[in-house]
Amino acid sequence: MRKFSVPVDLRSRQEMESFLRDHFRYPTMNSWNQATSYACNLKVHSLGLASEITSKLYDMLDTQEFFDFRNDLLAEFNHAHGYRWQAGFNGRSGGYLVLYQGELRSTGHLSYCTHCGQRNYRSIADTGNVCGACGRSARVDYSTPPKQPVTFPGRGTDMDEDYDQWSLSELRNRVKLVQELDSLADSIVSQAIHLANAYEVVEEEYFVPQTRHVLVAKSPS
Ligand SMILES: [Zn+2]
Repeated sequence: MRKFSVPVDLRSRQEMESFLRDHFRYPTMNSWNQATSYACNLKVHSLGLASEITSKLYDMLDTQEFFDFRNDLLAEFNHAHGYRWQAGFNGRSGGYLVLYQGELRSTGHLSYCTHCGQRNYRSIADTGNVCGACGRSARVDYSTPPKQPVTFPGRGTDMDEDYDQWSLSELRNRVKLVQELDSLADSIVSQAIHLANAYEVVEEEYFVPQTRHVLVAKSPS
């Protein structure tokens, strides 16, 4: 099984520089966009797993649950970095884990309705507390206006960077960040192997309600 995280001596400038310079990179959007960032190749066939596990993982890639488990790990990483750094998947079949930049941005809402949950872009100081959706006098201002994560998919990280211009502490911080990305890749692989061992992929029939137009004879009047 392939392991992504490697030890790096955080006292050695040379070791840190070569770790960053030689780390696998991948485009953050498309290859023609030119922006790249630190990444890990998580394509199933490149993970060095037993063929039995490999074929089971291919089957699991069709299930929603598999991605839900994986997204929990990504969410943990993003939250831990205050959404300034985010981990995401890219590539034609989503086989590459890529380090993205982003931020936590205010949604612009200033108040909300405690009855129906409707959000409002204006303060009740300006509009009164009546809710436009449900009509109740139940709106209050947020004590902390809500924020949502935003990703900058076109922004690369450390492209053509001159690491020898960086201070030791800048290098250390970046190395630690990229090591966390590598550890995340390891966790994703371990989780996938665990799921492959603990679950069976089965077919389930389900019916989707559909509408169509039909002719119905008029009742005689
Ligand atoms: Zn309301």
